[in-house]
Amino acid sequence: MNTIAGIDLGTTFSALARLNGIGRPEIVPNSEGERITPSAVYFEEEEAGAIRVGLEAVNCRQLNPERAVRWIKRHMGDQDWKKDIDGRDWTPQEISSLILKKIKQDGSIESAINDVVISVPAHFDEARRKATMDAGTLAGLNVIGIINEPVAAALYYATTQAVKGRVLVYDLGGGTFDVTILDIDGQQMDIICNQGDHALGGVDFDKKIIELLEDAYRQEHDAELIENEQDRAKYEDEAEDVKKTLSRRNSVRKILYGSAGSARVEITREQYEKAIEPLIARTEILIEVALEEAKSKVSDIQKVLLVGGSTRMPMVRQKLAEKFGFEPEVAVNVDECVALGAAIHAGLTRMRENPKKVAAGIAAGLKEVRLKDVCNHSYGTICAPVDEETGQHVIRNSIILQKNTPLPCEATQTFYTMADGQTELQVSITQGEDEDPDFVNKIATEVFELPADRPANQPIHVQYSYDANQRMHCRFLDEGSGRTLEVEFCAGQGGQMTKTEIQQVAEELDSVKVQ
Ligand code: AMP
Repeated sequence: MNTIAGIDLGTTFSALARLNGIGRPEIVPNSEGERITPSAVYFEEEEAGAIRVGLEAVNCRQLNPERAVRWIKRHMGDQDWKKDIDGRDWTPQEISSLILKKIKQDGSIESAINDVVISVPAHFDEARRKATMDAGTLAGLNVIGIINEPVAAALYYATTQAVKGRVLVYDLGGGTFDVTILDIDGQQMDIICNQGDHALGGVDFDKKIIELLEDAYRQEHDAELIENEQDRAKYEDEAEDVKKTLSRRNSVRKILYGSAGSARVEITREQYEKAIEPLIARTEILIEVALEEAKSKVSDIQKVLLVGGSTRMPMVRQKLAEKFGFEPEVAVNVDECVALGAAIHAGLTRMRENPKKVAAGIAAGLKEVRLKDVCNHSYGTICAPVDEETGQHVIRNSIILQKNTPLPCEATQTFYTMADGQTELQVSITQGEDEDPDFVNKIATEVFELPADRPANQPIHVQYSYDANQRMHCRFLDEGSGRTLEVEFCAGQGGQMTKTEIQQVAEELDSVKVQ
């Protein structure tokens, strides 16, 4: 039987967990014996074709930052981002696939890792979700599903602790922030809503430390500390160390070496907290938005669960304690709980789709676990209704499935053709909350062919459904002729890379060796 596994593909670190014989998730260490692997890639200069992933890549980066990539998750889904290495352009999916390849390779020593669930930030849009799944496929993995990171953490939390009540998950990682509100009753979890920011995390706190170091150096020498990419790579790593030390101590002393000479500097926690205050305030605003979406007050929240390495900062814990009136929960390992929860989700997905392939011990271990997730975004279509005041058609985005609707869900709306003799309809499937089509993502466009010689105002029924595996089905029905157009996609089909392209690149990457 296939190993059932979950992968946390993080901005700074990634982790792999698999289900043991009784359905409990366990972290699978990498080949260096570490439980988490830095999400860093380095293309060797001297050894043609050699690619290092993990700690070695982080260490090599200072030698030649041009040949290194860190924090690739920040670029996931960005079609314009490329890394040129020896004349080959690497996309974010391809770089991420190298990290996943190393995780698969290291984790497959005891038994092959193949079927996986990969976690993504809750607020990742369809393009970013698809890019993540493509990365898995390119790494030779069978991605059976994806799960939102805070939901994965909550799954692990609820299956290991006795919890009852409304819980807020505060997930501040290396590059992203998510807040999720859910109800937990034993092993039953009902997600209520998700909010987040895909560009707010540890990397931003590191930048603040770099600014403090640069200011201190300027004061001492009236000169710049960082003059090239090599300096930047060095101080990015040092800044992360300083930041982590400030979580334990009130101040850190450092000797900085720049072209104008050395400088002995001290950074205090107070200075640092002042510098990051606006970033932490952004997380507090998103908590407010989530509470509003959940129609909850602060006093309705019974527990706050911390997830992600950046929640080790005392300021985060203190602000949350002040806001909620109790200490946040630190019962689960903030670095590992997402991968562990993703493995549980992989087990639940396998049981739902192919129960015969799940070993009896695993099935027994997971039989009480129930997860009710919600739609991460609103999904709609672009239409042109007549404005009542002007009598003119106006182009607008009409939402069919509302954000935060419990899954599985389904909704139908009826639209009408605009012109006499109209023989086709441009169909757009959108993702986003706005009525203005310029402020939503078009995640698919298709042409629906209609019969000729008919007057305007023919009804077209548009039905969207979204299942528990985050698979969406859209059906356009022309009432008059009975013709239908069906568009099916899970977060992993349609969009940037076609199936053929994925297959071609996967074949090319198959021969690439990561170490
Ligand atoms: P994650 O994506 O959850 O693995 O979180 C990684 C982020 O957590 C990185 O930016 C780390 O620098 C940060 N981090 C880890 N430990 C600490 C710490 N003790 N204090 C502050 N930040 C930390």
